[in-house]
Amino acid sequence: MRVEARQVALQSRSPQRPDDLLIEVEEADAAAVDQAIGLAREAASGWTAASALQRSAALGAAADTLAGAAAELTGLMVREVGKPLTEASAEVSRAVGILRYYAQQALDPDGETYPGPLPSALLLSRRRPRGVAGLITPWNFPIAIPLWKAAPALAFGNAVVLKPSPEATALALRLRELLAPALPDHLFQVLPGGAATGKAMLERVDCMSFTGSVTVGHQVAVAATERGIPSQAEMGGLNASIVLPDADAELAAKVIAGAAMGYAGQKCTATSRAIVVGDPGPFTEALVAAVQGLPVGDPAEQGTVVGPLITDQARRRVVEAAEEAVADGGRLLTGGAAPDRTGWFMAPTLVDGIATDARLAQEEVFGPIAVLLAAADEEAAVRIANGVRYGLVSSVFTGDLDRALRLADRLDTGLIRVNAPTSGVDYLAPFGGEKASSYGPREQGKAARDLYTSTRTITILPQEG
Ligand code: NAD
Repeated sequence: MRVEARQVALQSRSPQRPDDLLIEVEEADAAAVDQAIGLAREAASGWTAASALQRSAALGAAADTLAGAAAELTGLMVREVGKPLTEASAEVSRAVGILRYYAQQALDPDGETYPGPLPSALLLSRRRPRGVAGLITPWNFPIAIPLWKAAPALAFGNAVVLKPSPEATALALRLRELLAPALPDHLFQVLPGGAATGKAMLERVDCMSFTGSVTVGHQVAVAATERGIPSQAEMGGLNASIVLPDADAELAAKVIAGAAMGYAGQKCTATSRAIVVGDPGPFTEALVAAVQGLPVGDPAEQGTVVGPLITDQARRRVVEAAEEAVADGGRLLTGGAAPDRTGWFMAPTLVDGIATDARLAQEEVFGPIAVLLAAADEEAAVRIANGVRYGLVSSVFTGDLDRALRLADRLDTGLIRVNAPTSGVDYLAPFGGEKASSYGPREQGKAARDLYTSTRTITILPQEG
């Protein structure tokens, strides 16, 4: 499709080699958005009329194509968003799994029957697609997030219009090219652009799924509500790991170090706060050692765990957060500065000794920085963990199942993981947070159907009697 656009050029550059320009395209303006959504709406009517078996087969074929292009997509992901090779490769595999999973879900029952007003009556409820699903996504999971939204939307009969993050434009356009042979024309479209393109989309689509920051997520939810269309927003996190006194400190430290600093901490599920119950000494020592042992460097190299930040501005935010924490009376345990090398790299940074209401203990930075907080007992740990506006994920380290279950009941997050990193998502289970971290129905698993379908309740009585 030829997309008309106004003269605003969008560039995407590699964060490890900022002179490496991956793509320069024009942003889709309101007219281009309008045209794309019109074509998507036409495509949706044919797609809804296709059988579930056809939709399932198309998603299965898309999965095969993606699997065949795994090495290429992994390389592009490393280059465009600086994701370390191992994680990038795992993300592409996950994306293939997501397509296969929703190819199967397309075949699930599409409704329910209920006892009617007469024994011979039929009272049933059927799922119907919404029409055109608008997706607005961030750059940090540039293939998995678009697909964990697009796959269920397509499986249940919708067309999809994706506005990716400008920093992941090349990946989104390549994804569209790869999926195109498996899908009818215009059913899955990508509109390059920033906020203006996203806003224009919001005015025209039939439902909206957003992932990104809290500020933008709330704006998207308000705009969708004003139009009366359903929406969901998955937003930031300030995730805590609670280390109980019986936990293996070294093991917990290794897991938490990876969850805090892997991919330079640029995950909504990254650990930002480690809360130690009891004597923090042994765990602090183990965590500093684990963080210092993480390989920082070129994301294209096998074994790299911490690559660059996405932009210079993102890196400056981390440096400033570390400086502010020290000014607030905190102690820098490791890191705190940007290494002298090309690319937006930052040393993994750990701070302790700040108050629980200091900014670093309250606001997401979205980088390789975490704070250690001490709690006198379990009660205090829960209070600290819950004492932020976010509520995405928490984790607990203990060998005591009773305590783990007790904490799981009291932690105010959508996901709770025991002896596991806060990062990591299982696409077959519902995903989402509490408080400022999420708005609207859950994503992934069987829960995804709630945003992308509506129900029709049908009552059929016999003509006589
Ligand atoms: P962002 O909010 O800046 O941008 C997200 C998307 O929204 C981008 O595509 C952007 O172009 C678009 N956008 C920006 N302003 C807009 C507007 N006014 N109207 C419509 N669209 C607009 O976020 P980001 O920097 O790309 O990603 C980082 C954030 O995403 C972090 O806060 C992180 O925690 C969050 N995140 C959350 C999850 C989750 O599932 N909860 C997953 C990944 C990332």
